[in-house]
Amino acid sequence: MASYNSFHVAQQQVLEAARLLHLDDATIELLSWPQREFSFSLHIRMDDGKPGIFHASRIQYNFARGPAKGGIRFHPDETIDTIRALASWMTWKTAVVDLPLGGGKGGIVCDPKSMSERELEALSRSYVRAIAPMIGVDKDVPAPDVYTNPQTMAWMMDEYETIVYSHHPGVMTDKPMQIGGTEGRRDATARGGVIAVREACRLHGFDPTRSFAIQGFGNAGQRAALLHANILGGRLVAVSDSQGAIFNPRGMDPEMLVKHKLKTGSVLGFPDAGEIPHGELLELEVEVLYPAALENAITAGNAPKIRARVICELANGPTTPEADLILHGKGIHVIPDILASAGGVTVSYFEMVQDRYSYFWDEALVHERLDAKITSAYHAVQEAMKEKKTHPRLAAMIVGVARVAEACKLRGWV
Ligand code: NAD
Repeated sequence: MASYNSFHVAQQQVLEAARLLHLDDATIELLSWPQREFSFSLHIRMDDGKPGIFHASRIQYNFARGPAKGGIRFHPDETIDTIRALASWMTWKTAVVDLPLGGGKGGIVCDPKSMSERELEALSRSYVRAIAPMIGVDKDVPAPDVYTNPQTMAWMMDEYETIVYSHHPGVMTDKPMQIGGTEGRRDATARGGVIAVREACRLHGFDPTRSFAIQGFGNAGQRAALLHANILGGRLVAVSDSQGAIFNPRGMDPEMLVKHKLKTGSVLGFPDAGEIPHGELLELEVEVLYPAALENAITAGNAPKIRARVICELANGPTTPEADLILHGKGIHVIPDILASAGGVTVSYFEMVQDRYSYFWDEALVHERLDAKITSAYHAVQEAMKEKKTHPRLAAMIVGVARVAEACKLRGWV
């Protein structure tokens, strides 16, 4: 999945949007590269007493619209270019949903599955010690991503507050509720995607009550399964995780499946579903397909075989540019990642706002405001698509890139 250079893809996407917006060369150069990059190594004591050395980075892609914002990944395959790509996409994502934020991303090259809780805490705290001067509520606000979670954020926030000797809950988002987290964050990414699917169905006549499949059954994938079934009434026929894929054409109970995954650590072995080859999940005939794992899952190799009517990209960068054109040619309605997965960062922004004035909203208000943001972003992208006569990903990039370019120009950077 990870052999494609995601950052080259991200740069190409910026270039295409910039050309359609007739941006000048200086603006294109500015938007094609991160404004700041930090690479460093971390050293912690492992449980066996030996030193553990880990390579890490934090990238602040663009600040024109506000502080950098984006997750931190713990993953063995992370490279500077995957982090650059993810930071670039965060920049356009925050702009598409019109948040007063820039984009950023961070990562630690590690295998979290082989590490103890104590080692993960030590690693999280050492990461914050390395970047403490560069982050803060008005500079850069990290959040969880693949293989990090609210507990990681709690350790990181605590380390930061220890360093700066004061209370700054807004320095990290997606914290546990008890220490400045917000209602509605747990399912925000998936909820945003499901709201976008709802709008696509209303506008284009797809039927959300038919079947749907999910690649990647982690934070985003599990919540999408529950919400799609509960809000839109669809039938979950297939899911996968890093260990394999399962299928039942009659449908599976998302709640039971989440419990099974929690208990056994995998979707495999779920009663009343058969195993299918990993790649086959993406090629099933379903109304809606949610890629919710990692980058480059849909390539020129498998795109011709995809039979979903709608693809809602909860993962960042799951489709390569060649695959994108193939999907477009086949008339598949793609809700691109920077729109489909923007619910998470939107509610993270709501968390920053609440942390600032130390007064918290109820869940209904979070859902209502999230719905308004995603619905409006979905329709802005549809408008751009019509106006520029292009495909949805480029249309979403056009909306995001235009807003960031305008901010750069107003600041006098270009
Ligand atoms: P997660 O770690 O909770 O889940 C990832 C899941 O993908 C795991 O179940 C893992 O087993 C599975 N997976 C890994 N390789 C796979 C493969 N080859 N085939 C099938 N499944 C595979 O991570 P997450 O938070 O759910 O994030 C998933 C994607 O969504 C990432 O691309 C992330 O950047 C994106 N995203 C997440 C959020 C969020 O709020 N969680 C927000 C925006 C975007």
